[in-house]
Amino acid sequence: MSNSNINRRKSNEVKVGNVFIGGDNPIVVQSMTDTNTSDIEKTTNQILELAKAGSEIVRVTVNDADAIQAIPYIKDNIQKSGLNIPLVGDFHFNGHILLNKYQSEAAHLDKFRINPGNVGKKNKKDKNFTTMIEAACKLDKPVRIGVNWGSLDQELLADKLDTNNNLNIPKSLDEVMCEAVIASALENAKLAETIGMSNNKIIISCKLSKVNMLIDVYQKISKMCDYALHLGLTEAGSNERGIVYSSCALGPLLLNGIGDTIRVSLTTDINGSRSKEVDVAKLILQSLGIRYFLPDVTSCPGCGRTSSDYFQKLAFDIDQYIKDSMPVWKKNYPGVENLKISVMGCIVNGPGESKHADIGISLPGRGENPTAPVYIDGEKKVTLKGDNITNDFKKILINYIDNRFR
Ligand code: SF4
Repeated sequence: MSNSNINRRKSNEVKVGNVFIGGDNPIVVQSMTDTNTSDIEKTTNQILELAKAGSEIVRVTVNDADAIQAIPYIKDNIQKSGLNIPLVGDFHFNGHILLNKYQSEAAHLDKFRINPGNVGKKNKKDKNFTTMIEAACKLDKPVRIGVNWGSLDQELLADKLDTNNNLNIPKSLDEVMCEAVIASALENAKLAETIGMSNNKIIISCKLSKVNMLIDVYQKISKMCDYALHLGLTEAGSNERGIVYSSCALGPLLLNGIGDTIRVSLTTDINGSRSKEVDVAKLILQSLGIRYFLPDVTSCPGCGRTSSDYFQKLAFDIDQYIKDSMPVWKKNYPGVENLKISVMGCIVNGPGESKHADIGISLPGRGENPTAPVYIDGEKKVTLKGDNITNDFKKILINYIDNRFR
């Protein structure tokens, strides 16, 4: 069940490989590799890792001749793995040269990302952009016109600042920056249409790293065009910072029906998994009730009433059990991702929260009887005790899933 209170903005539907973005289609989760694209094996492996984590589109850097010549091999490897995930090429600076010279290789990509701030300066800018759009049209590929304030067209920004300085009451630098980002996206999208690209082949994004500015930009641009919108806070940072900032940026927009595809740009920890950004993107959508990917486990934080760390271990154990089981459950139990589970630490909120879940357990707090009532569909069904509560609860859980979703 998805959040029916959200009124999705109407956007053009864009086909990217076998995935549809925009229109009435579910919001698509995407990610990007951080390998050297010319390292075919490493790049293939990371694409597969991201796809297995739930990324529905993966972007790779195409920064030189070696990278673009690796694309057919990477695509072939992906197809041989049985995962038909669309592959997007990220072009900057030399994209016009690569897309002109290596068209048969570029044909293996499902979309091109073009950054209009990085296609060239002065009279070369439109010429290089035109070359790239013509290649996309010839190969029948959609494009994302992806503006980033870190590489914003400086001539366009300078023009906007000049105009602003001549106003009686000049706007703030942030306001002018937002206007310039929007203008860059829309002007280049229009130019692409003039060159011959249809509007259902164009996705646009306007990425900034300040949360309030990003929200402002997307709120405005969403009313100014029908293009499908790719959302993402650029350079969000790592760990908690990246997760919180991305969630705060994307949440309000998604709740207002803005956004057709999302990416969470996390700095990967050394030795960390790149797929963390996919997990976070899915959780953002799931937390808002927009899409469900795996059963939800509600658990309390614990407090002085918690008699041991048993309930924390149980909550983490159940989380892990669900993650490990999902590949099989997804096949055997359609709809299981909508399941709500609660694991609570004591009688204060335990029974009430457990009743709100499909299946919940309330562990005994300090001074309480050493028993753990289990609630199923809002009713207390059984009370667990002894040393084997975790396994007993898992058995009840799998029985419930088997009865309800088989
Ligand atoms: S449910 Fe009980 S243990 Fe959990 S936070 Fe609330 S009072 Fe503390």
